[in-house]
Order: sequence, then structure tokens, then C-alpha cells
Amino acid sequence: MEAVRSGFLHTKTFNVPEENLNGLLDDELFERYGISNSPYFEGLMACQGSRTCAFGVIENKPDAIKLANYLSERLPREEPIRMHWSGCAKGCGQHGAGDIGFVGTKMKVNGEVKLAVDVFLKGEKIDTVPLDSLHKYIEELLTRNGLS
Ligand code: SF4
Repeated sequence: MEAVRSGFLHTKTFNVPEENLNGLLDDELFERYGISNSPYFEGLMACQGSRTCAFGVIENKPDAIKLANYLSERLPREEPIRMHWSGCAKGCGQHGAGDIGFVGTKMKVNGEVKLAVDVFLKGEKIDTVPLDSLHKYIEELLTRNGLS
């Protein structure tokens, strides 16, 4: 199985016979869009976010992809993990249904307002973390909770 992704779309292609795989990957579609078979992308879900939704607090989809790429490199795993992102508190990304959930918000750090996410673990809110330090935070969270 291969997952094809872009900033706004995440699709999966199943049951491609091994002998047809190279032919498929030569398609121009794959020049335009990235390919990933990382488990961090298999369960990844993210709503529209601020680029296309007036309610969005954070961009959301790019943030979700950045984190999944980071974890794919830093914390390789075999099993899929469900990371669900909502760009605001309306919750269209079903953050409560993920193994880890994220909700776009803002927070003050040393008097400066920063983009941030509320972080949920198995549906329970556990923290609010600035987006610019989220990668390290989630890497440590996964390791600490035996989810890596
Ligand atoms: S959760 Fe918020 S940002 Fe995401 S689609 Fe719903 S209203 Fe828009």
C-alpha cells in the first residue's frame, strides 16, 4: 500500500499487485504529489484549517503533515497511529477520536501570543503546547507512553 498526499488531500491506493507497482509510480500524478507509506500518515486526519475555513485558528493540514514527517524520521514505527487535527474548537477533525488529538488555539508565552494546539491523548485533553515546540513535545509523549 502507498499513500499519496498533498497539502489538502490524502488518498490511499490499495491492492496494487507488486508487479504493477513501478508502472503505477511512473504516473505523472506521483511527480506532482508526494508519496508516503509511513504509519504516521495512515491514521492522519486534518480538517480544512485557516487557509480555507474562516473559523480556523491554525493552518492545520500543513501542521499535521510537518509533524507526521518529523515523527517518521525521528521515531520510526510499524503500527499506524491515529493523529486527528481540528483547526479550531468546533472539532471537525474529530480530535477526540484519535490516539492523539490536536485543536488549534492561541496561548501567551512570555507575554507573546503564539499559535498553539490543545493536545488530547485518547480523547482527554492533557496540555496546550505552542506549535513551534510541538514536534519535540509529541516525540517525548509517544516515547513516555509506550506509543512509539
Ligand atoms: S474545526 Fe474549525 S477550522 Fe476545522 S473545518 Fe471545522 S470550523 Fe473549520
